[in-house]
Amino acid sequence: MDDHETELPPHVLIFPFPAQGHVNSMLKLAELLCHGGIHVTFLVTDYIHGRLLRHSTNVQSHPASYSGFRFETISDGLPEDDPRSGDKVMELFRSLRVTAKPLLRELLRSDRVRDSDSGRKRISCIIADGALSIATDVGEEIGIPVILFRTTSACYFWAFFCGPKLIQSGEIPFQGNDMDVPIKSIPGTDDFLRRRDLPSYYRVSDIADQNLQAIISETLQTTRAQGMIINTFDELEGPILAEAHLQCPKIYTVGPLHAHLKVRLTSKVTSNSLWEEDMTCMTWLDVQPAKSVIYVSFGSITMMTKDQLMEFWHGLVNSGKRFLWVIRPDSVIGKDWENHLSMEILKGTKERGCIVGWAPQEEVLVHKSIGGFLTHSGWNSTVESIVAGVPMICWPYFGDQQINSRFVGEVWKLGLDMKDTCDRVIIEKMVRDLMDGKREEFQESSDQMAKLAKKAITEVHHKASQDAAVNSTKKVLVLM
Ligand code: UDP
Repeated sequence: MDDHETELPPHVLIFPFPAQGHVNSMLKLAELLCHGGIHVTFLVTDYIHGRLLRHSTNVQSHPASYSGFRFETISDGLPEDDPRSGDKVMELFRSLRVTAKPLLRELLRSDRVRDSDSGRKRISCIIADGALSIATDVGEEIGIPVILFRTTSACYFWAFFCGPKLIQSGEIPFQGNDMDVPIKSIPGTDDFLRRRDLPSYYRVSDIADQNLQAIISETLQTTRAQGMIINTFDELEGPILAEAHLQCPKIYTVGPLHAHLKVRLTSKVTSNSLWEEDMTCMTWLDVQPAKSVIYVSFGSITMMTKDQLMEFWHGLVNSGKRFLWVIRPDSVIGKDWENHLSMEILKGTKERGCIVGWAPQEEVLVHKSIGGFLTHSGWNSTVESIVAGVPMICWPYFGDQQINSRFVGEVWKLGLDMKDTCDRVIIEKMVRDLMDGKREEFQESSDQMAKLAKKAITEVHHKASQDAAVNSTKKVLVLM
């Protein structure tokens, strides 16, 4: 390192898994680090980069605020028109392992030899998605420390870290039988977790299942990294974090990330959307009574059948409640669903319902007219709802969502868990319970948790002049 380089700020490479929830929260981490004076190279696939440029008001739109930020792109190895949603996600994961590793190696090697007058230090740390241990491989090869960043819950990480124990104890596989049998081999969860609450990749008949083995193996690689940052907070997942700390001492909690950003940055919060946000729903929300609307959204990857769509439709309409429903254009299996649904939708919902293809979710959740959230329990959506103090009905689709929803319903008492069913009568009843019958009970626990979430970020403000995210990263940088 020459004299010129020593005067420059540290330079970090951030590498998210290429999906909305992951890119969204790692861009927020990047914004916080830039805000703390650290230079960031943000590595995304060409596909994600193209969508961000088309639809978001992301960090690149604010070069003055983030002069330390730049994008780098690589291929994910999939055809351009591949939908990259639903069960395609594991294909993307496998493809990325093959294509991204040599490209990452090449990028870091060229960074090592580049001209030091470029105004940036050489990359001295990689912050990679917890699902991308290829970054740890390359970091070890080249001699650059790696911190893993978990955009999912600590309970999801922990459920897979305990994978070998679950297999040894014979609790896995369970062949889809009696889904209410309690799970005993995950310390910290033994009085409330059932088979059906395990992350969906455990629903296999053979433990040699390649997706299950890949995820357990990825999770166990965590101990090779210099540290792990999780977008959660201690009051939310304390007992799980305490157990996980025994195995992985260098865990840092920085959540709720999006709330840090709102407190730190006085300008309008930027959007990292891969879809175009339909802002008309905000005008519609403005004229609805306080806490009268249930917001319905299943994130960026969930797919549903036409029959499931119709169950939700009837359940929502029959509940008599107002709803704002996000139906992502590519989220329903089958070609003619739009015609089929629009005929039904036109009957009598104009005042009570608003349907959009993609919403500005963070803004929606804090709107005064929102009283509940029917969600797929993706981790970002869960945390955003917690911070906004909005009670939830959970309809998990896959991955971490099954375990997140159990915590929402049974542990944190923030709403109702509707997993493994999609029935208009149940939907109607749960919507009524959430919005009317059990409203006070859920609102009280949601308000309390929202306070704890805010405290988690406010304490950091009082204790230190830097953000938790910056601090955590600096702590790990100091360790190197
Ligand atoms: N989101 C949004 N508008 C929508 C639906 C979702 O902005 O209409 C955002 C949401 O705020 C969250 C992310 O997309 O930050 C979804 O992430 P999550 O982890 O909840 O689910 P995933 O999409 O990864 O399944």
